[in-house]
Amino acid sequence: MFKNIWTAIKENQLDYTNFLFLILNPLLTGCGLVYYFQNHDFNIWILLFTLIYAILTNLSITAGYHRHFAHKSYDTNSFVQFLYLFIGASGFQGSALKWSSDHRRHHRFEDTEQDPYSIHRGFFHAHVGWLFDKKYVAQSIQAPDLEKLTLVAHQHRHYLLWSIVAGYLFPTFIGFLFGDALGGLLIGGGLRIFLTQQSTFFVNSICHYIGRKTYCHKISARDSWFVALLTHGEGYHNFHHKFQIDYRNGIRWYHWDPTKWTIQFLALIGFAKKLRTVPKIEILRARLSAEAELQKRKGLSETYLQELREKVLQAQLKIQAAQEHLQSFKKEYAKKREELLVQGQVYRMQYQQKLLELKSELEKAKIEFNFALQQWRCLELAKV
Ligand SMILES: [Zn+2]
Ligand SMILES: [Zn+2]
Repeated sequence: MFKNIWTAIKENQLDYTNFLFLILNPLLTGCGLVYYFQNHDFNIWILLFTLIYAILTNLSITAGYHRHFAHKSYDTNSFVQFLYLFIGASGFQGSALKWSSDHRRHHRFEDTEQDPYSIHRGFFHAHVGWLFDKKYVAQSIQAPDLEKLTLVAHQHRHYLLWSIVAGYLFPTFIGFLFGDALGGLLIGGGLRIFLTQQSTFFVNSICHYIGRKTYCHKISARDSWFVALLTHGEGYHNFHHKFQIDYRNGIRWYHWDPTKWTIQFLALIGFAKKLRTVPKIEILRARLSAEAELQKRKGLSETYLQELREKVLQAQLKIQAAQEHLQSFKKEYAKKREELLVQGQVYRMQYQQKLLELKSELEKAKIEFNFALQQWRCLELAKV
């Protein structure tokens, strides 16, 4: 840690603004909190407000800065964009434009010299150390698509104003309304900023450090449900680096990914659209390839692995085909429903029979897939 900072000072590359802010904010907040708790009663409303504002700050970074602006994994309206920019600015993590540009660079040059927060320069560097060094911070902005957006450009040009208003003044004002402006400033402002910053920093450090390489072994990003708890769902980072256009990071329904659920909720109320996902078959293909890579290293025949992998993939394709068949049949029936009702019992029975056939076709495909997958899993277990 000190080595990184000392090197930056020696090379005259220390970013004093970031350095002082990242040190002074927690330091002054800590001292202020000692004074506050000695002289004030505990205010539950300030705590409640801070909790909600902290969650919204994190979501503005993960669903807004990250998945919407940096990756364009879904579209949203100007109102939601404004909320992302306003609340996102309150987290003091840079403008959405700068943040996205750095992040795109992180993906494009992952694990190389040009990756600003590469884990290969050490945990501390990836976590926060890179922010102290001008070499990594002062890189040019390359996000022409975002520069064209009026609100994004405004937030970038007047970033200091946006962040002070949203980060300190707004919580102080809310505190004032609850009769506790100092509590609002210290807890809703300083403490919340520190904690939400750490949550984002975890994505760049622990997500490249702890967990499984489920979809790709060639990259440092990892998947971990535990880290997902700390990062609003960003912990499924191996998936994210492999399929960055997907609006989800945790793809199973039970994966802890509040960011994904927020985007789905926005879509439900009509505030988000064009939610981009990677086809199931591509995800399965990547997963099997990553697992096959491990088996190969353990000495299993490549041809055998290839055969078995194809079997699973073909079975998955059959499920997809059967599902599509069933859906299109149901749609067709819905269109002809009135007509069939008039034609009477015989036609309805014919429909029911066809429906049963298609459903059993789907069930058969699922059984075939599960069988192939079990074979694949047994192979994995046998070698471990
Ligand atoms: Zn990453
Ligand atoms: Zn990303």
